[in-house]
Amino acid sequence: MMDWKMIKSRFQEMTPKELHENAEQARREKGRLLYEIGERHYMKLRSEGRRDEIKDILAQEVLVFGALSRIEEMEVEAAQKQCKSCRTALEPGAKFCGKCGTAVPRETDQMKVECSTCHTPQRNDQQYCTCCGSEMGQHV
Ligand SMILES: [Zn+2]
Ligand SMILES: [Zn+2]
Repeated sequence: MMDWKMIKSRFQEMTPKELHENAEQARREKGRLLYEIGERHYMKLRSEGRRDEIKDILAQEVLVFGALSRIEEMEVEAAQKQCKSCRTALEPGAKFCGKCGTAVPRETDQMKVECSTCHTPQRNDQQYCTCCGSEMGQHV
C-alpha cells in the first residue's frame, strides 16, 4: 500500500498528460479488480442457487450465447449450400460433396435439453451448460 507522501512525490514532476494517463491506468486497474471480485461473488451466488440476485448477469450471458449460436447456425447453413473444400454448390440435404466427397456439416448438434438455470437449448451429452456453466440435469 502506498502512502500519500509517496504518491505526492511520484506525481510531483509529471505533466498533466502523464497525470491523466496515470489516473486512467489506475481506473482501469480498479475496474479489473472489481470485475474479479464481482465474478467470484457471482459464481458463489450461482452455486448457491440464488438466481434472483444474478438474473441480470444471466440475462447478458444468454444474449452472448444467443448471438454466438446464431453465428454458428449461419456458418452451418452456409456450409450446407457450398462445399467448403471445392466451393461446388451442394444439393439440399446432401451429406457429401458430389464433386470431391467432402462431408457436409450436419445441423448444429442436436439441442435436446434445456438448461434449468438459463433455459437455453443444450446438447444432452454435456455435463455443464455452455451458456451459464450450471451443472446439467440439476435443478439449481
Ligand atoms: Zn467439394
Ligand atoms: Zn445455463
